[in-house]
Order: sequence, then C-alpha cells, then structure tokens
Amino acid sequence: MNILFMGPPGAGKGTQAERIVEQFAVPHISTGDAFRLAMKQGTPMGLKAKEYVDQGLLVPDEITNGIVRDRLLQDDCSKGFLLDGFPRTLQQAEALDGMLADMGRSLDHVINLKVDRGLLLARLTGRRICKSCGSTYHILNNPPKQEGICDKCGGELYQRSDDNEEKVGTRLDEYISKTAPLLSYYEGKSLLREVDGEQDIDVVTAEIVSVLRGSN
Ligand code: ADP
Ligand code: ADP
Ligand code: ZN
Repeated sequence: MNILFMGPPGAGKGTQAERIVEQFAVPHISTGDAFRLAMKQGTPMGLKAKEYVDQGLLVPDEITNGIVRDRLLQDDCSKGFLLDGFPRTLQQAEALDGMLADMGRSLDHVINLKVDRGLLLARLTGRRICKSCGSTYHILNNPPKQEGICDKCGGELYQRSDDNEEKVGTRLDEYISKTAPLLSYYEGKSLLREVDGEQDIDVVTAEIVSVLRGSN
C-alpha cells in the first residue's frame, strides 16, 4: 500500500505514522527525519539542508526529490511505503508522480490531517522527541510516563531547534504558500481524504485505519 500523509507542521503526521507503519508493515519515509539525520552526521547534503531547516524554510526541491528517489528504490519499499512530509511543493508532487510511474506504481491513499492553525503553535512548542528512537511526545497532550524519558526505549527526550515560536511562524507561512495548494492537486486526482486531526490521537488513528482499509 502506497500512502501519503499531508497536513501542516504539528498536524500529527509523525505521531500517526508511527502507529500506521506498525499495523500496515510499510516503511515510514519522513524527509524531515532524513534531513535531521544528515545534519547530525554533517554530510554535504546535511550542511546544505541546514541552511534552510534552521530558518524554517523548505529545502530546495532538487535536494529533497533526490532523497526520496533513493529511498523509494530500496528493497523494503517494494511492499509499499508511508510518505510523511513529502511532497510539500507542486514540483515535488509532480516529481513523485514521475518516480512512481518509472517504477510502475502509483499512490493508493492521500490523507490530509486537518488541524486549525490556532492549535499548531502549542502542539509544536510542546513537542518532544526521543534522541534514540525518534518517538514523539507532547509535554501536555501526550506526556511520557517519566518526564524527559522515552517510554519505549528509555532514551532522552529533546526539543527540536525549529520548534520555537519564531520558526513555527515561518514554517506555517511556508505551508500555506507552497504546500496547501497541493490539496487541490490530489483532490483533482480523487485521491484526497480528510481526517479531523483535532480529535484524540487514538480516534485519529482509528479513522485513518478505516480509510486505509476502505471501510468508510
Ligand atoms: P513537521 O513535522 O513540523 O511538519 P518536518 O520534520 O517534516 O516538520 O520537516 C522539518 C523541516 O525539514 C522543514 O521545516 C523543512 O525545512 C525540511 N523539510 C522536510 N520535508 C521537506 C520537503 N518535502 N521539502 C522541503 N523541505 C522539507
Ligand atoms: P507533524 O509530524 O505533523 O509535525 P507530530 O506528529 O510531531 O506532527 O505532532 C506534533 C505534536 O502534537 C507532538 O507533540 C504530538 O505529541 C502532538 N499531537 C499529535 N497528534 C495529536 C492529537 N491528535 N492531539 C493532541 N496532540 C497531538
Ligand atoms: Zn525512544
């Protein structure tokens, strides 16, 4: 199953992806995670991406598209994939269509997690992530059992450097100007399904599962 998650920063894409990949046994492809890893490792691509990520701006399409192309060609994607945070521009969406066509494949589901802009700042500034396994928490909405420690692996939780008020403002502006127009692109292909991302995390998961199983 070839799945794509859309939604503004903080909509819950990563949180839901963690759960859906367990149930559907497909790899989770997050361009944001790929950039953070490359930045941490200090690779040439990571250093280039850092110039944009640190400012809350989108990384140029040619860099981003290359990462996704390489990842989709890996063996574990042959059974399907869940793309989270890609595409974010019309050019990326068209590039993705081309990559999939070359592989004789296409998207099965595009799910848009809808969350009002007013909720996103609190979600993003309260977000904490495990340094070891990448699990996502929220200090109020989804706290770990022990403060600062991952429930799943005991790893240390940290706050992303772009999850502050100033960068969030830029990221939301980028979303509105460059990514939101993609919704009509996928609507035009009759692939788009909306899920209310303001509901409890478990309720959102259940709705996504029923869309993916084709039972609603
Ligand atoms: P969020 O979880 O808040 O939606 P991500 O972790 O997906 O954020 O992305 C973090 C940053 O990585 C973005 O602000 C952007 O700089 C960069 N990035 C991630 N995905 C893309 C993409 N598809 N195109 C361009 N830049 C991207
Ligand atoms: P995205 O990947 O779309 O940027 P995340 O999955 O990282 O979003 O979620 C952003 C923050 O909001 C995290 O701290 C997460 O724990 C929290 N969160 C996610 N889904 C919900 C929800 N349905 N209700 C409340 N908080 C949520
Ligand atoms: Zn962990």
